[in-house]
Amino acid sequence: MLASPTLSASRAHADPWTALDAELDRWRAAGRTATFWWRDDDATAPGPALDRLLGLASRYDAPVGLAVIPKDATEALADRLAASANVGVLQHGWAHANHAGPGEKKMELGDHRPASLVADELRAGFDRLSALFGSRFLPALVPPWNRIGSALGPHLAEIGFAGLSLFGARAQRLRDGLVLANTHVDPIAWRDDRGFTGTNAALAALIGHLSDRRGGLVDPDEATGLLTHHLAHDEATWSFLERCLEALASHSAARLLPADTVFDAADP
Ligand SMILES: [Zn+2]
Repeated sequence: MLASPTLSASRAHADPWTALDAELDRWRAAGRTATFWWRDDDATAPGPALDRLLGLASRYDAPVGLAVIPKDATEALADRLAASANVGVLQHGWAHANHAGPGEKKMELGDHRPASLVADELRAGFDRLSALFGSRFLPALVPPWNRIGSALGPHLAEIGFAGLSLFGARAQRLRDGLVLANTHVDPIAWRDDRGFTGTNAALAALIGHLSDRRGGLVDPDEATGLLTHHLAHDEATWSFLERCLEALASHSAARLLPADTVFDAADP
């Protein structure tokens, strides 16, 4: 049975990729550039999933901020990344170990332990990533599970961090003297089956942040952050990521920024 014209039209309108293009068209019509950035978490070593991620970064000329777990980071990862032009390394906590109590949300960098002890771990991680990755390491902290306690704040700049990345629209640009550049779209259903959330849900988050920026409901200058986890992707998540990179690369009002740009204190 053929669908009625009305139904076809409403289906076309409901296509979330069309809706993304339409939102980007609104940015272009307003003479504005919709900025994005891409963060991928939990890297420690090279492997097929990382190769696939770096392949996409290369194919779409897409810069990626790779959040590396310092304690487990390998020389082999440094060797692998040395050949990739599009990768900036961020610090993903220290060991990605949970120190929250049972029933609490997972946190490595919470206020469960003395701040000076947590700061010592972060300093060791900072030194280790500096030694392994050299100038490819950007002094930006990505707390595991996107959570950080308040007591650690005063230590971060002293360790050498200039940037911090969590999840959700930032309330202000600076926190404890660090530039906050968050992520806003996570296509993995962590609390469900750890599969793909679905195109509708993922793009609703993406388009929602863009629309809120355009309308001034959130900081319009915070780049919309796409968060991925290469070790956890199913095929549907990989497909979404590729289509998303393709959509951004093919729209003149969209610009995917390198991680060093989003954490640049001089960039308003
Ligand atoms: Zn993580």
